[in-house]
Amino acid sequence: TAQEDFAAVDTYLIDHLVHEDQALADTRRSSAETATPGIDVTQSMGAFLGLLVQITGARRVLEFGTLAGYSSIWMARAMDDDGAVVTLDIDPAAAQVARRNFHAAGVAERVQVRVGPALESAEALIQEQAEPFDLVFIDADKVKTPHYLEASLELSHPGTVIVIDNVVRSGAVLEQDSTDPDIQGIRALMELIQADERLSATALQTVGLKGWDGFLLARVN
Ligand code: SAM
Repeated sequence: TAQEDFAAVDTYLIDHLVHEDQALADTRRSSAETATPGIDVTQSMGAFLGLLVQITGARRVLEFGTLAGYSSIWMARAMDDDGAVVTLDIDPAAAQVARRNFHAAGVAERVQVRVGPALESAEALIQEQAEPFDLVFIDADKVKTPHYLEASLELSHPGTVIVIDNVVRSGAVLEQDSTDPDIQGIRALMELIQADERLSATALQTVGLKGWDGFLLARVN
């Protein structure tokens, strides 16, 4: 089937291009100890996020959705020693597993996990007048993605890069009458960005190990 071909090609590309050490492999496995196992980004997406951090020279990264810390580790490792990742998750089990993984991966000093509803944590960062972030990765519950984007804009500077995962959802993004809150969230996100002159954006569809999906890339003007 087409999906088998997409997965086989993804595996071939990952085998040749993406080096995953023991700490990263263990991190992926350890998502079994969280409330939502197995929904981390693929190895290729992890490497992509790391490259994006390096290309942009990001020093401060904000992440919505930690899970076991897989994407956080890719981004933290791509930063200089003075870099910082703040990652937000509602699941205390995930936060505990992630902290263990950050130690094993050698990035514990650079990564801060904040436990609680991500919108509340983001609002706390705004209240604290946190230094703006250079790159934001939004990968938590999809229904609140528009709110996460709004909060991210408050925590950004001109040039901040925002990546939002899972915006295609096997094409379900086209279902305008969908009763699925995740689809409604992504469609509301699209309308928000369409009407917002503060952002330049695009989105790319992807196929591979995780089926047919896509991610959105935006830059704060
Ligand atoms: N970025 C991670 C990676 O690639 O390794 C994967 C994150 S996973 C797709 C989504 C995470 O969002 C889960 O760990 C879940 O606990 C968290 N989450 C769900 N609802 C949330 C909320 N309201 N606030 C914060 N985190 C939430």
